[in-house]
Formats: sequence, structure tokens, C-alpha cells
Amino acid sequence: MPAKTLCSNCMREFEAGGIFGDPNSPFGVCPECEEIFERQQGQDLKKYVDNLMLPTLVVNQGLRVIAFNGSFLKAFCEWSPKPIGLLTGELLGCLNALLAERCGGSSACLDCAIHRSALETLNTGKLQKNIRAQLTRLEGGRKVRRELLVSTDKLGDLIKITVDSFYTVLEPFSDDI
Ligand SMILES: [Zn+2]
Repeated sequence: MPAKTLCSNCMREFEAGGIFGDPNSPFGVCPECEEIFERQQGQDLKKYVDNLMLPTLVVNQGLRVIAFNGSFLKAFCEWSPKPIGLLTGELLGCLNALLAERCGGSSACLDCAIHRSALETLNTGKLQKNIRAQLTRLEGGRKVRRELLVSTDKLGDLIKITVDSFYTVLEPFSDDI
């Protein structure tokens, strides 16, 4: 039996395969939904982010990732391909995105500087620069904290999230992960 993956967008199960349903990741994006997000992305946006040096995401107003560049893939996904259309925290590998409330929905998300900064830019149209953010995730089976400086800026109807710098802090071993 091929593995099934849950589509982050339509919540339907679909057959895992290729980048759409990575069996190591709890969420994927089904091919039908990915097509929707690809239309939002367009060729120009993809080229634009690929030319940026810093790890960069572009998200839509629902904070779903419409584009990311190679620098982001290297820094946060160890070069492993990912579909577009995931929620920001799902692509970042945030542990809070695994909660039932999902990325942006849990009480922990109220403190998420990435989420807050993106919404601030969305609501005011203003650039937010060098915002300190924390991200907790698993890396090689270890719980780690990434300390980030991010900037968020308007890009047409979309929001550009740039990781200006980051470093990784190993959390002490614990059983509750
Ligand atoms: Zn779907």
C-alpha cells in the first residue's frame, strides 16, 4: 500500500509520492491544490525569489507559502524538495504546526513573531525589519531552537518574509517530544 499524506489545504488524504506527499512530513499538498498555488506564484515571482541571496518565503494572505528560494530550502529543509501551498510553520518545520490547532491556531502561535510580523505587514502595508523570532523544530531527531531575525514586506497582494540571519540552539534532551 502506498503511504497516504494529508493535504494541508483541502485536508483530503492522497497518495504520497514525489514532493507532493513526503512520507516523512505530516502534511503535503495534493497535486490539485498545488496547481492552485502555482497559478498564484507565476513564473516572475519564482524568478524574483530565486535571485535573492537570503532565505526568503512569499506567502499569500492566508499565510500559505506561494514561493521560496534555494537559499531557504538549503537553510530550513536540508535541500529536500517541498511543495508550495503549505502553511508557513509547516514548511518551517515548526513543532507548533503539528498541534491540532495547526500553524497559527494554537496559543503558542500568539507569541510567534513571524506570524505577528507577517500580519502586521499585511494589515499596514509596512515593512517590518529585523524582528526577533524563535522557531522550535526537530533536526535529526533532536529538538532545536532557531533564533531568527526576520523582515516582512508587502509584495503586491503577497507578503515577503526574509530570514536576515539565524543560528541554532540545541535544546536539552527531553521525553516530551
Ligand atoms: Zn488538496
